[in-house]
Amino acid sequence: MTPTAIRNFNADARLEIDWDDDSTSCYAHELLRVQCPCADCRGHTPEQAKIITGKEDVRVTHIELIGNYAVRIEFDDGHNTGLYTFTHLRHQIL
Ligand SMILES: [Zn+2]
Repeated sequence: MTPTAIRNFNADARLEIDWDDDSTSCYAHELLRVQCPCADCRGHTPEQAKIITGKEDVRVTHIELIGNYAVRIEFDDGHNTGLYTFTHLRHQIL
């Protein structure tokens, strides 16, 4: 599963991804931030995972394609270590 287009709407705080099967996914910036998959946020075990709150107003400032399997998303709270794999975006963030 590969994105064919990624559109960021800061005014609406949402990100849209078109996939190569002609479907489109829509993600709220807040949801992407609180579900950040990086080791800092998730910890090494489920027990270590942080509950991230207070990100209602967070915005995506930059999106970078990583190879053909993930995007790295930067947020305006300075957080930029989350690698969101396409599989994760497709199946785990709803
Ligand atoms: Zn993180």
